[in-house]
Amino acid sequence: MATPVLKHWRTTLERVEKFISPLYFTDCNLRGRLFGDSCPVDALSSFITPERLPYQQAIQQNFRPAQVGDCFGPTWWTCWFRVELTIPEAWVGQEVHLRWESNGEGLVWRDGEPVQGLTKEGEKTSYVLNDRLGEGDPRSLTLYVEVACNGLLGAGKGSMIAAPDPEKMFQVSRAELAVFHRDVHKLLVDLELLLGMAKGLGEDNQRSFQALYTANQMVNICDPAQPKTFPIAQALACQFFDQRGGESQHTLHAMGHCHIDTAWLWPFKETVRKCARSWVTAVQLMERNPEFIFVCSQAQQLLWVKTHYPGLYTRLQEFACHGQFVPVGGTWVEMDGNLPSGEAMVRQFLQGQNFFLQEFGKMCSEFWLPDTFGYSAQLPQIMLGCGIGRFLTQKLSWNLVNSFPHHTFFWEGLDGSRVLTHFPPGDSYGMQGSVEEVLKTVTNNRDKGRTNHSAFLFGFGDGGGGPTQVMLDRLKRLCNTDGLPRVQLSSPGRLFSALENTSGQLCTWVGELFLELHNGTYTSQAQIKKENRECERILHDVELLSSLALARSAQFLYPASQLQCLWRLLLLNQFHDVVPGSCIQLVVEEAMCHYKDIRSHGNKLLSTAAAALCAGEPGPEGLLIVNTLPWKRTEVLALPRPGGAHSLGLILSPGDSAQHGLCSCPSPHVTATPAAPACVRGTRAPADSVSRPPPTKPDGSVTLDNGIIRVSLDPTGRLSSLVLVASGREVIAEGAMGNQFVLFDDVPLYWDAWDVMDYHLETRKPVLGQVGTLAVGSEGGLRGSAWFLLQLSPNSRLSQEVVLDIGCPYVRFHTEVHWHEAHKFLKVEFPARVRSPQATYEIQFGHLQRPTHYNTSWDWARFEVWAHRWMDLSEHSFGLALLNDCKYGASVHGSVLSLSLLRAPKAPDASADMGRHEFTYALMPHKGSFQDAGVIRAAYNLNFPLLALPAPGPAPTTAWSAFSLSTPAVVLETVKQAESSPESRTLVLRLYEAHGSHVDCWLQTSLLVKEAVLCNLLEQRDPTGQLPLHDDRLKLTFSPFQVRSLLLVLQPPSG
Ligand SMILES: [Zn+2]
Repeated sequence: MATPVLKHWRTTLERVEKFISPLYFTDCNLRGRLFGDSCPVDALSSFITPERLPYQQAIQQNFRPAQVGDCFGPTWWTCWFRVELTIPEAWVGQEVHLRWESNGEGLVWRDGEPVQGLTKEGEKTSYVLNDRLGEGDPRSLTLYVEVACNGLLGAGKGSMIAAPDPEKMFQVSRAELAVFHRDVHKLLVDLELLLGMAKGLGEDNQRSFQALYTANQMVNICDPAQPKTFPIAQALACQFFDQRGGESQHTLHAMGHCHIDTAWLWPFKETVRKCARSWVTAVQLMERNPEFIFVCSQAQQLLWVKTHYPGLYTRLQEFACHGQFVPVGGTWVEMDGNLPSGEAMVRQFLQGQNFFLQEFGKMCSEFWLPDTFGYSAQLPQIMLGCGIGRFLTQKLSWNLVNSFPHHTFFWEGLDGSRVLTHFPPGDSYGMQGSVEEVLKTVTNNRDKGRTNHSAFLFGFGDGGGGPTQVMLDRLKRLCNTDGLPRVQLSSPGRLFSALENTSGQLCTWVGELFLELHNGTYTSQAQIKKENRECERILHDVELLSSLALARSAQFLYPASQLQCLWRLLLLNQFHDVVPGSCIQLVVEEAMCHYKDIRSHGNKLLSTAAAALCAGEPGPEGLLIVNTLPWKRTEVLALPRPGGAHSLGLILSPGDSAQHGLCSCPSPHVTATPAAPACVRGTRAPADSVSRPPPTKPDGSVTLDNGIIRVSLDPTGRLSSLVLVASGREVIAEGAMGNQFVLFDDVPLYWDAWDVMDYHLETRKPVLGQVGTLAVGSEGGLRGSAWFLLQLSPNSRLSQEVVLDIGCPYVRFHTEVHWHEAHKFLKVEFPARVRSPQATYEIQFGHLQRPTHYNTSWDWARFEVWAHRWMDLSEHSFGLALLNDCKYGASVHGSVLSLSLLRAPKAPDASADMGRHEFTYALMPHKGSFQDAGVIRAAYNLNFPLLALPAPGPAPTTAWSAFSLSTPAVVLETVKQAESSPESRTLVLRLYEAHGSHVDCWLQTSLLVKEAVLCNLLEQRDPTGQLPLHDDRLKLTFSPFQVRSLLLVLQPPSG
């Protein structure tokens, strides 16, 4: 055997590279021999359609002759190909492939079933017709290939994330039969890996040279034209790879994976087909490789496949029984980790886990969210409550500023719940099985010496695709070879068990996993965010009212299945490219339809429940006033009057105890004489009654005063003063103006809809209004208001109604914007006379603090953060809270509270956020802490207005309250029927501690309760959780931010 005579690293290396190159010397190198004889298919015909047809329907259509190279399209259409083929007899004994190359995503159908995806971008260009063609095997057959007119990652015009090109055309560039040389393929894989080791381990590593010289010798031996030389070369490779590593080797748990974004650069409907294309390919790989394990998340996608591809679904269930197909994650979809409400997050797991249990016989043990833009500090508690103590993601590797210090660690949430968390150290969920990735996984690992196991997720992802046979061949070859980590084809269960067994030295990270990137997703696509908030409210209200109707009426049927559908739609839209606003316009349109469905069906269900609540009670027909929040409220409400008009009414939610429950109020037009009317004050008229003429001061400013707060607006609508009347304390910083709109240039580095960069702060431009637009709306009695118009730019304008109601501790800013901008960011600022190094932001089931300064890189990387319904800046015994009804982006820097209102990104939706917007925010100064001042309740009140529902029958004459709590620290968040027993009269109550305190709480109910027992978030009884009833009360204890659920078994109602 020839030995390398010269010690020349580079020429040896490149020689081997050329031997396997798909570009160079393919006339004589090994790669050129991968395929042998070839022949065209007998006949190709096609049929093009704008629809996504089922197979049976598609093949009935009129197919016309087609040729390789024909163009078809445009984007989002589908071209079906009928492929008639005959394998030459001479190929008996050989492996025969259909070679198919197209820039569209293909799915092969054989005998009416999908059998494999064909996607050039996903390196799937070959469909194996026969492993080894037998004498008697049929040689003629007809296949169909369904080609979607989009690529793996959609059809962006010019760049991946650009808006889709609607005119894009597609092509099939190859469709032929060919003999495949499996022995050549094996040698190519070996040589590739040897090269990878030579390069990856580098010139100061002896194993690297062993790999290089082995490869070089293989090239010496191997004559591409003489297959009989192949086994000798193969033997050399075996000898090398069989040299084992030591016992201390790191172990990679390689799992096949295929991240499919449920909607992103393509519509939801295309995802249904992406699932089929990707998973049928995975099934084929599972058949061929019994040790291969494929990990799959997102119940919704599985349900789609069950509905549209029942044959494939049955196969998936079979492989799940063998443990090769592993459902993972436990959620309905891989949702956004920041924006959904706490209850919505619970429902992700509730819908997901129940689906996995029902369809696959068990729930998931791992939460799987590799690609989401940050992770709420409440997730650990929610996970544990849903039976999951393990979490996998990798997204924090995208941090722009700080490198996250761990890959394997305990994550401790807001309430102290701890879950074992793993980030695959290779920082990817789309590995290909290369030596480079394997080495990176080891070297990059930030927990060396603490744990010796890592995940290695391989397979094309994002747009689907998944693993290929080549990836598997590589990983199998690397199972245990000296110089590299051990590679096991493994499962999440095995990985996490290994990590758990050696978790003694792991570090703990406390609080949120904040992603230092994609901070624009708190604001982009404002309409989606508004609908999300609104639909979360509707479902809350429907469940509550339906539960009360169930408790009060023997005839009422709880709309369990309708609610499940509506929840699933909402959860679907909380996917991590939909609610964050990082999707294309088509997806936005689909999402808006989903929201419309939720609203219209939800409102019908509200009416039905209201009707049931009214039935059988004597009283006048009219309106049923419902307070869906568990405390007493007194609010000004616009009540419908005959003829379409509205009148204001002061609604007192009645009851007999200090903390009030849910109540209905029979009287549609409650009138009351307020002790101190809200008034608008100016110079000409110190208006304290309804009848005075519009009172603006000579300088054009207006003051609103309701005895609790006094609001002064300058002639352009800015807030010159906000005073907490009782203390006389001014809230607005000296010399500054509140309600100051500001525009920023908003040009990120790449991810347009996703990112707002730190440097946008350097482009701050306050919007200065025109004097004289401020006018008084209503000026006394129950409500005072002022109105103004503001030209934001030549193209965009804003109008605002500033409203102060009697008895209300906050002033509201009803805002309408006509927004026509490009790469601008609109915010509103409130410089406060409050000083604190930390601000507080509401999150799911609680709140957390973030710094108001830019001391360290970890602090300034949070220049734009997210919050739910409120944020607060407080010093000792005084503070200012900023509430909102549909916004999520926020920041507090120094003493300036800033709410992010609108962005104008152009990719991937060129029309994102253009047009009309409506939103409300509110300002609530307070004394004491925000907890004691009732900021949390105020934010709920703003988001859950009292309902005035038309009562078809006589409304109940007596108001009643269903639940009340003994402490304001605890919020009764959810009342619903238990999932497991749709026919039974069991309610689930979910409560959480909202102040951040240990507290005992008495829950009082007027419902007739047979039994009360604690349960987890999946509504499974806690065997030791019986709660004794003391008359109509039961006692619950809470630790800070603890979420507790309980089952209330009701007695049948008398009526
Ligand atoms: Zn994703």
